[in-house]
Amino acid sequence: MAIIGIDLGTTNSLGAVWRNGKSELIPNVFGEYLTPSVVSVSEEGEIYVGKVARERLIIDPENTASIFKRFMGTNKKYNLSGNTYAPEELSSFVLRKIKEDAENYLGETVTEAIVSVPAYFSNAQRDATKRAGELAGLNVQRIINEPSAAALACQQEYPEEEALEMVFDFGGGTLDVSIVDCFENVIDVIAVSGDNHLGGHDFDLAVARFFCRRCALAYDSLSPTDQAIVRKSAEQCKIRLSAEEKVEMQVTLSDKNYSLLFDAELLVQASAEVFERMVVPIKQALTGAAVKWNEINRMILVGGSCNMPVVRLYLQHFLKKEVAFLGSPDTIVALGTGVYAGIKERNAQVKDMLLTDVCPFTLGVDIVHNVMSPVIERNSALPISKSRIYQTIRSGQTVVEFNVYQGESPVASDNIKLGRLSVKVPDNEAGAEKILIRFTYDINGILEVNGTTISTGEEKQLVIVDPQNHMSREQIQKRLDALQQLKIHPRQQEENVWLMDRCKALYMQSSLDVREKLTQELQYFEYLLDKQDPMMIKRGRRRLEKVLDSLEEYMKQFSVDISEGTANWYQEALEEENLDSDFADWFGKEHLTS
Ligand code: ADP
Ligand code: MG
Repeated sequence: MAIIGIDLGTTNSLGAVWRNGKSELIPNVFGEYLTPSVVSVSEEGEIYVGKVARERLIIDPENTASIFKRFMGTNKKYNLSGNTYAPEELSSFVLRKIKEDAENYLGETVTEAIVSVPAYFSNAQRDATKRAGELAGLNVQRIINEPSAAALACQQEYPEEEALEMVFDFGGGTLDVSIVDCFENVIDVIAVSGDNHLGGHDFDLAVARFFCRRCALAYDSLSPTDQAIVRKSAEQCKIRLSAEEKVEMQVTLSDKNYSLLFDAELLVQASAEVFERMVVPIKQALTGAAVKWNEINRMILVGGSCNMPVVRLYLQHFLKKEVAFLGSPDTIVALGTGVYAGIKERNAQVKDMLLTDVCPFTLGVDIVHNVMSPVIERNSALPISKSRIYQTIRSGQTVVEFNVYQGESPVASDNIKLGRLSVKVPDNEAGAEKILIRFTYDINGILEVNGTTISTGEEKQLVIVDPQNHMSREQIQKRLDALQQLKIHPRQQEENVWLMDRCKALYMQSSLDVREKLTQELQYFEYLLDKQDPMMIKRGRRRLEKVLDSLEEYMKQFSVDISEGTANWYQEALEEENLDSDFADWFGKEHLTS
């Protein structure tokens, strides 16, 4: 019985299956591979999915939903023609559609599937994805990370090559960067990083704003509908610039026509900020993997925004050497899920490959001073089960509370809270009672937390609360306001805040060894702050500064400074390659795709 692979995308979804010795994309009823992830419900209660639904985004926007993948695992509800749907229900309609297309194509019933999700998806989002599968009548055998799927597809195609690769997944609203080590039949994801709020939509917005400035329109003063019109036109202009040298962007607002001629250079100028932000996750992934930029010898391009020649040129510029750019950005993830389906079927034609994955975020508990104590470090290989021992801090303490967090800040409460575990301990001296906390995290993103009181052997298990429970802007403001009211503690004094921020920033980009050192130092500094003795704090500050200087120096070796001179990258890239007017042909697909 066939297992199908599904790339359940924010914008488009695709199915694949292992057949005739390779991963094949599954065509839908229109003979196309991409099915828009859009659902529409008519007044009569008929449900439309895909291309038809996408048309209804324009004619019946109220009863049509898109980009719901972003809200998987949250309580968001969609009201379409009087019916209420959760994001996973909407996703299940898309999955069901792909299941039906697969059944038509294969001529058999399909009940088993592999579904890909972004590497940064949390437990709740992965659970919701599995539920969506169940609702669609599919047993999701495995959730696979999108970058891993892309790497798998490439390794299947070029099995003889050993490579250290960067998977650069640049979609509509997210950028995901992974470092993957491929050799023989092992695909080892060694680090992942990303920006959940950077993607094609940011190019659209940047182009829209630039257009308005040049046409003497105030973008922020436009009505939401007019803003949407300008953004839509900006996206079309951006997409056409991937194939054409010059594109005239035209918009009609209140019977007035506006236009501006765009070329690659103007596109780069308009979206300078987007390019600057792209560097951050690249650096983070490299340092997380302790890999230097010039050691990367294969770039795998994934996601619609990688169709942009200027994005390819940008990467090429910073790589400073010839690198194979692989991947058909729109289909490679789906093809990888198809390969994985082949492996699951134990199909003799698929090279048996071992796929390891890493945990995309740090999981830990809070300890005194609101410090994050990591139990499972980001980029640990999965599955993993790790424990740490904690002790009571007060005499006569009978309960120890552990808050479980996910995130990269050394300040526990800045991270996402996943749940809370209370463990009972016998009345005893401070430090006398020890509690073993064990985290078990598997490749499907299920986190189990166990706490055992060592002296009594009593065990507690955690029930995870909704991890999507982010604070709203108002809540954050409220908390900030509350902080303002407090008397200024040394912790709030500027120089100390600045130093701790520097510490946190370094922590976020660091590898495991550096992080351990930083946690120790930060804890010591917090301890000094609590003493509230200015001399001690001053000495502590000097010490911490020295440590940070040397750690920063140490980290430098892993990443050449790619943020320097980013403003002029485009001019430099053109000069380097001696290109000017006809660069459009040059960096077309033939040149960069080997
Ligand atoms: P997601 O993974 O978020 O569902 P996709 O990988 O499908 O997203 O990418 C969608 C984004 O890619 C959109 O912002 C779209 O404008 C952009 N895009 C698609 N094709 C092109 C193209 N040829 N040139 C430039 N941008 C493109
Ligand atoms: Mg994608």
